Amino acid sequence: MRHLMSGPMKAPTVVDFKSLQNLSKMIRKADLSWNLVEHLTKCLPEQFSLNGVKDDTISTLIVKPITRWPFYAFLGGAMFCLLASSTCHLFACHSQRLSYIMLRIDYAGIAALIATSFYPLVYYSFMCNPFFCYLYLGFITLMGIATIAFSLLPFFQKAEFRKYRASLFFLMGFSGVVPIIHKVILHKHQPEALQTTGYEILMGVLYGLGALIYVTRIPERWRPGKFDIAGHSHQLFHVLVVAGAYTHYQAGLVYLRWRDLKGC
Ligand SMILES: [Zn+2]
Repeated sequence: MRHLMSGPMKAPTVVDFKSLQNLSKMIRKADLSWNLVEHLTKCLPEQFSLNGVKDDTISTLIVKPITRWPFYAFLGGAMFCLLASSTCHLFACHSQRLSYIMLRIDYAGIAALIATSFYPLVYYSFMCNPFFCYLYLGFITLMGIATIAFSLLPFFQKAEFRKYRASLFFLMGFSGVVPIIHKVILHKHQPEALQTTGYEILMGVLYGLGALIYVTRIPERWRPGKFDIAGHSHQLFHVLVVAGAYTHYQAGLVYLRWRDLKGC
């Protein structure tokens, strides 16, 4: 306010012009022989510890980074699943008709999450064996499309298709065992292969526990009415699905580090 009240107008001292004038000097003084490799490695996620990694490995890593699309496909699938689930729970109370449609979208979201969960696992495990890579990717993609179609198309909502719908979800989830066992056999001397398998087993346990709680309606079956607001089976189910997806995300980071550093 002072510059407005005291006669001749002065520029407000919002910017320190002196320091701006010094800035160009500071830039010139700065070490221009900035290490490009060091600069680029700072762009990697924190999990990418470069301790003990040789310089030539770092340059390979920067020259030929491994493709990220399978990892992003999984993140997209997980986001679609959680978004579909949130939309379902937000609008399901509107009407019976909308609740019916929303539930279908919720199922499609779960199918998308399961199908895309396979992408990092299959792609990064078999990227050097294109035959198995495309075989597993093709299989899970077809399974995913079939399950989403079964979830969305009204034709398949008839009672006689109920067991087929349930078995498609089960088959899709369970078929993950095949590429996981294949991966362990193929890369049994690779610590990352065993580490990711550990994460995948934990993910299977979390998803399985979620499905079990969902089906058995624990704990509200023991004390009906006590868990209507918080702690009922459907909430526990969603918490376990998020935990499972997070475990899979951690496995995805291990795959990226492994393939970035070692390639094929
Ligand atoms: Zn839900």
